[in-house]
Amino acid sequence: MKNPNSHLFNFCPRCGEKNFTAVNKKSFQCAECRFNFYLNCAAAAIALIFTPDNKLLVTRRKYEPAKGSLDFPGGFADPGETIEECLVREIKEELNLDVTKLTYICSVPNTYQFKDVTYDITDFIFACKVENFDHILAADDICDFEFIFPDLLDKNKFGLDSVKKVIDMVRANDF
Ligand SMILES: [Zn+2]
Repeated sequence: MKNPNSHLFNFCPRCGEKNFTAVNKKSFQCAECRFNFYLNCAAAAIALIFTPDNKLLVTRRKYEPAKGSLDFPGGFADPGETIEECLVREIKEELNLDVTKLTYICSVPNTYQFKDVTYDITDFIFACKVENFDHILAADDICDFEFIFPDLLDKNKFGLDSVKKVIDMVRANDF
């Protein structure tokens, strides 16, 4: 499988030599000093937050990639953090909401383009319960939010392919 970043990483980050090449989809090796560099899958959490009347909370992306398109709340896990802690933190940062219960649904492999680099991601999807929406606020890397019945979600308004996959999954699973 081809490494999507083989054209971007040309010099060994350890010794600085140019003889630095992709070994497989996720790793590189320096022919001079034998240093191995891995771009492993990053873990990310995606929240499906349903209101009491079964609408789904969707957000609008403030930044690239897919700036201005719809998205689901969530984000990347920090080092040392559980995926559950990641999700609770991201929902607080992005929306000022407190998740009181989260239920793991499934994971989805994805890729994410950021500043020319292709990152492989493992998205962990959770159904989340929020008791109180009174203090909801668009913050951090989102610029707006709305509540939509799942049947009315328009996949074309979601910019990331990964999120389109999640929408298919939501519809297929009917939760
Ligand atoms: Zn080297």
